[in-house]
Amino acid sequence: MSDEVRVVCVIGYPVAHSRSPTIHNFWIGKYGLAAEYRREEVAPETFPSFVKELDVRGYIGANVTLPHKEAALEASEPDERAQAVGAANTLWFDDGVLRSTNTDVEGFIANLDDAAPGWDRGLDEAVVLGAGGSARAVIYGLKERGCPKIHVVNRTIERAQALRERFGDVVMPASWDDLPNLLPRARLLVNTTSLGMAGQPPLDIDLAPLPTEATVADLVYNPLETPLLAAARARDMRTADGLGMLLHQAVRGFALWFGVVPDVTPNLRALVEADLAPKESKDGNDLES
Ligand code: NDP
Repeated sequence: MSDEVRVVCVIGYPVAHSRSPTIHNFWIGKYGLAAEYRREEVAPETFPSFVKELDVRGYIGANVTLPHKEAALEASEPDERAQAVGAANTLWFDDGVLRSTNTDVEGFIANLDDAAPGWDRGLDEAVVLGAGGSARAVIYGLKERGCPKIHVVNRTIERAQALRERFGDVVMPASWDDLPNLLPRARLLVNTTSLGMAGQPPLDIDLAPLPTEATVADLVYNPLETPLLAAARARDMRTADGLGMLLHQAVRGFALWFGVVPDVTPNLRALVEADLAPKESKDGNDLES
C-alpha cells in the first residue's frame, strides 16, 4: 500500500451544492483511507482540457455533474451503459486509459431493490413520467431488469418518441392525457420530471387507478418526501425516494477509485439529509450528484 493520498473530485458548473463530497468523504473516513474528495468548478469551454489533464492535476478519477455529463462521454472511453444512456457521470483510470460509466442506472435499480425488495416481480408494465436525461438512465435500468413494456409519458411527445428510437419497442410514448388509462396495469410508477421539486410546479396526478401493490419512485429529493411519495405512502404503497438513488449511485465510483465497495447506511443517509435540510430552497434539487 502506498502512503500517497488518492484524490478524486466532482466536476460541475456550478458545483458548490453537490452532495458528492459529503458522501465520499464520509466513506473515506469510515474505511480509513488515505484519500480526499474535492469539488472542481469548471466552465463548459475548459471542461475538455481539464479532463485531459485530470491525472496531471493529481486526480485518480472524478464524478461529473451538470452541465458536463454529455461532454464527459466525448472526453473518455465510455462503457456500453454510458453510451446507451448518452451521458457519463463517473470517470476512472484503467491502465492509463480514462474510462467512464453512468452510475445513475444502478443507483436507480439498487435503491428500488433496497427500499422495495421484489418490486420487479411480475413487472409487466411500468410508467415513467418524463423523457429527459434521468429518464434515459431509468429506462435503461428497467429494460436491463427485463421490464417488457415501459410507457414514457412526456409533455413533449417527440422526446418520448426519441427514447423509443434509442431503446427500442419496449418504450411506448404517451401523453399526460393517457395516464389514467395506463396506471391500472402498471406495477411501477417513476417520476423523472422536475415536477414536484421545490420551486417547480407540482406533480398533480391522481394515484387512485394505480394498484396498491405497485411501487412508486420519485427521483426528486428536494423535498425529501415529495407529494407523490406522500400520496403513495398514504395508500400504503411501497416507495423509493430520490435521496436513496443519489446515495446508491455513488457506490460504484467509490469502488472503482478505491477498491472498496461502500455501504449505504442509515448513518450516511442521516448525514446527507442534514446537509440538505438548510439548503432545501427554491432552487430545487440543486444537483443530482
Ligand atoms: P431534464 O431537464 O433532462 O428533463 C426534465 C423532464 O421534466 C422532461 O421530461 C420535461 O418535459 C419534464 N418537465 C419539466 N417541467 C415540466 C412541466 N412544467 N410540465 C411537464 N413536464 C415538465 O432533467 P433530468 O432528467 O436531468 O432531471 C429530472 C429530475 O430528476 C430533477 O429533479 C433532477 O434533480 C432529478 N434527478 C435525481 C437524481 C437522483 O439521483 N435522485 C439523478 C438525476 C436526476 P419536456 O421534455 O416536455 O420538457
